Amino acid sequence: MIRRWLFADQLGPHFLDAPRQPVLLVESKAVFRRRAFHRQKAHLVLSALRHRAAELGDQAIFLRTETYAEALRKVSGEPLDVCHPTSRRAHEFVQGLDGVTVRPPRGFATSPASFVAWADGRHGRLRMEDFYRDARRRLDVLMDGDAPAGGRWNLDTENRQPPPREGMEVPAPPMPVEDEIDEGVRADLDQWEREGIRFVGADGPRLFPATRAEALARLRHFINHRLSAFGPYEDAMLADDPWMAHSMLSAPLNLGLIDPLDAVRRAEDAYRAGKAPLSSVEGFVRQLIGWRDYIWHLYWYFGADYGGADGLRATRPVPSWFQSLDADSVEARCLADVLRGVRDRGWVHHIPRLMVLGNYALQRGWRPAELVDWFHRSFVDGYEWVMTANVIGMSQYADLGAMTTKPYAAGGAYINRMSDYCRGCRYDPRSRLGVNACPYTAGYWSFLDRNRGRLLGNARLGQAMRQLDRLEDLGAVRDQERDRGDRAP
Ligand code: SF4
Repeated sequence: MIRRWLFADQLGPHFLDAPRQPVLLVESKAVFRRRAFHRQKAHLVLSALRHRAAELGDQAIFLRTETYAEALRKVSGEPLDVCHPTSRRAHEFVQGLDGVTVRPPRGFATSPASFVAWADGRHGRLRMEDFYRDARRRLDVLMDGDAPAGGRWNLDTENRQPPPREGMEVPAPPMPVEDEIDEGVRADLDQWEREGIRFVGADGPRLFPATRAEALARLRHFINHRLSAFGPYEDAMLADDPWMAHSMLSAPLNLGLIDPLDAVRRAEDAYRAGKAPLSSVEGFVRQLIGWRDYIWHLYWYFGADYGGADGLRATRPVPSWFQSLDADSVEARCLADVLRGVRDRGWVHHIPRLMVLGNYALQRGWRPAELVDWFHRSFVDGYEWVMTANVIGMSQYADLGAMTTKPYAAGGAYINRMSDYCRGCRYDPRSRLGVNACPYTAGYWSFLDRNRGRLLGNARLGQAMRQLDRLEDLGAVRDQERDRGDRAP
């Protein structure tokens, strides 16, 4: 049987054709020289790769080299195959290699052919909800015959509750126990830093699964103990509870440790057995076979130029305090807490990413491509494929609506409704002008004002634009925001 080269995000058994297939694993140091990754992300990826090599034993050749090319020279003569890599750069590299056969991608629920057939039939109107319904039917997930389970495709209206005042009462997710492999990774990363390789963020105990056993333990615990509480509060934020009832499975999913369709079937089983409500299960299923697959396929479908899209002419560089995760320089309570979460854990859930980090950048007109790179490097689950459409299309609206119907811009009122941040903040979410003006509220109006010409035709923004026209203090807000510039708020 041909030896399979597994990249560090292809580590689960579903990336092999047979349990005993020979394997090549390569740890390339050059990857970490190219960009400054979060220290905990570097740790997680190296730990996962080394744990997989240890599990496979003599079934795998494990090489630690400067580059992939150097490793391949050491095994030259032996034919290899590889599953379609997840980045454009790696895909081009493997396609150019003699003696390496590139197989279709794995680790996603929808095949490229199915996605292209669906997308080509949409005549330019690509919407996640339509793709998701197609995937539910095609994969027979949460279906009762031809109809969606419970009679509705989308239970979002039940899943947008503000956080409970008394906090969440869910058992904490099981945390990995570090071992001697982690100890070796930490020592190597310390050495690399001494050699001049740069990282961002703080080091800390490994919080995310690096092995399939750890990943399955977290998945089982989530389904049995946390899934029920997930749905209603999936869009809420709590200052003292970064995890809430989120699955925290994005990192092991993106390392390839869990097959997403397997996770979805287990969640559906919990619903069918009466152990979890449909709203929570549907929300989880939507994230995995809907959103995650949609983002993956758009990365390829939109082509290489999509990553440079800048339809809103957002030309300001991402400021250094944000780039370096300098949360201590920020007074806005929501942004400081979220930035601190990225610094200390390399992870915050999807709403702080979208409505605190992305929203702030969108309002200020920061360069979308720089933000893609920042999200890719700073999050434990960040990869180019996952951040490109998420940031360019959804968060920054730089594609002018190729994948969403309106920009995700919101003022302080939204953050106030969906979190407990504003109560302890020195700013006032209702105020757009003056010393207490909330930077999100002022930034929202300033964003609409600056992009009025580009957003005028958007029916979903009609009411907001009419409100903008009635603001008597708009000129003063404009001056205030120009003076605020890109200083930490
Ligand atoms: Fe954030 Fe504004 Fe609320 Fe402060 S008042 S926490 S800056 S939304």
